[in-house]
Amino acid sequence: MDTIVAISTAKGNSGIGIIRMSGEESFDIIKKIFKPRSKEVNIKPNTINYGHIADRDEIIDEVLVSFFKSPKSFTTENMCEINSHGGIIIMDKILKLCLKNGARIAEPGEFTKRAFLNGRIDLSQAEAIIDIINAKTEKEAKASIKQLSGYLSNRLHEIKKNIMDVLVDIEASIDYPEYDIENVTNNKILEVMKEVEKQLKLLRSTFNNGKIIKDGIKIAIIGKPNAGKSSLLNAILKEDRAIVTEYEGTTRDTIEEFIQIDGIPIKIIDTAGIRDTENYVEKIGINKSKEAANEADLIIVIIDSSKELSNEDKEILRSMNDKKSLILLNKTDLEAKVEEKDIENIIKEKKILKISALNMEGIEKIYSEISNMYKFNEIEIDDSLTITNNRHKDAIENMISNVEKVEKAIESKMPIDIVTINITDILSEMGKITGESVSEDIINEIFKKFCLGK
Ligand code: GDP
Repeated sequence: MDTIVAISTAKGNSGIGIIRMSGEESFDIIKKIFKPRSKEVNIKPNTINYGHIADRDEIIDEVLVSFFKSPKSFTTENMCEINSHGGIIIMDKILKLCLKNGARIAEPGEFTKRAFLNGRIDLSQAEAIIDIINAKTEKEAKASIKQLSGYLSNRLHEIKKNIMDVLVDIEASIDYPEYDIENVTNNKILEVMKEVEKQLKLLRSTFNNGKIIKDGIKIAIIGKPNAGKSSLLNAILKEDRAIVTEYEGTTRDTIEEFIQIDGIPIKIIDTAGIRDTENYVEKIGINKSKEAANEADLIIVIIDSSKELSNEDKEILRSMNDKKSLILLNKTDLEAKVEEKDIENIIKEKKILKISALNMEGIEKIYSEISNMYKFNEIEIDDSLTITNNRHKDAIENMISNVEKVEKAIESKMPIDIVTINITDILSEMGKITGESVSEDIINEIFKKFCLGK
């Protein structure tokens, strides 16, 4: 494969930056551009060498270069990593020099893709790397590191081994029909399938928590204009020192903010910005809030308790009947015109909290209520494996349904060929997780999600 190069650290000014190169010619290229202090490049695998990157006589930067010799490298190819200073200009110059000397720029995720294609890691481990890089919380990072370490791959390997044994037995019963081993085989297949089913169901059951760990909870704050939505959001963001990231929401009119509660990512869909849009009152208003509410797992309804309940408040409250929601009586620093019982007259069995967004009072209560609602404290990444990836969950479900087909086929005494087909279907679903039987399109789709240089 050709030799690829990319800047692997984030672009921006930083202490150091890493330019990574992988492929057959990496060492030849580095020899042309690296001037070690020891005069001559001595490529000893797994060593770090001090020197300069130079374009003939022009010194570009003082660097450290590490060499990894095939097959003992991340991609299994010859690799070098140039640790330069972290300035954009310098790193770009080094990158261009590598390109000039025969490397080509790597596509996003191409290093990891090579690690996968060369058999160094399986697809679930490659996906774990994206998840580690993008992890928003410690719990998510922990689950992903387990996956990268091969927890999922090993579990699947064990299951595969048992299934392969069954296939060998079936083969034998076909090859030696004179021995009446069919019954024995059938019993053994059933026994193995029951165990496989149990294991797979256990894996599937971890996804409930896995999904929360990865995607967290989506919350929408809704309420009539001036109820205090923006003030609440500000209070939450000020209180929470661990804001992870902030980016434009999927819709033009909403912003999404991230916070963490007990290590679980919470995405807050902020509809407060909506009113800045023209025609808010007539056109967007309540509709937008409803849209946000539909998207959310949990809705926080905020009521201005210093004013009598308006029709708009009542309508919003009534629309919460079949939704998971939390009701806040805001502005408790002012004289109260609305009490809990007024809310209970409209909607029952909702948790109601009193807060003052302006004075940042009651914010902690909101956090602990959310944590209780979803039992965040019980979601721990311990020694067990947690499935966090939708694609893996789907494949596991398909595997389970194929296992059930095998069991049914045996119980209804179907011909052994049918049983064999269903068994091989289990393996091919498993291959979608490990990457052994997955289409190129899906592989490309997965690696597209990577950042440059990874
Ligand atoms: P939004 O339209 O729902 O986003 O409401 P804002 O957050 O912009 O708040 C509307 C007005 O109510 C602003 O003047 C806030 O300062 C005020 N406000 C918000 N929360 C409180 C509170 O807890 N107490 C008091 N006294 N005023 C508040």
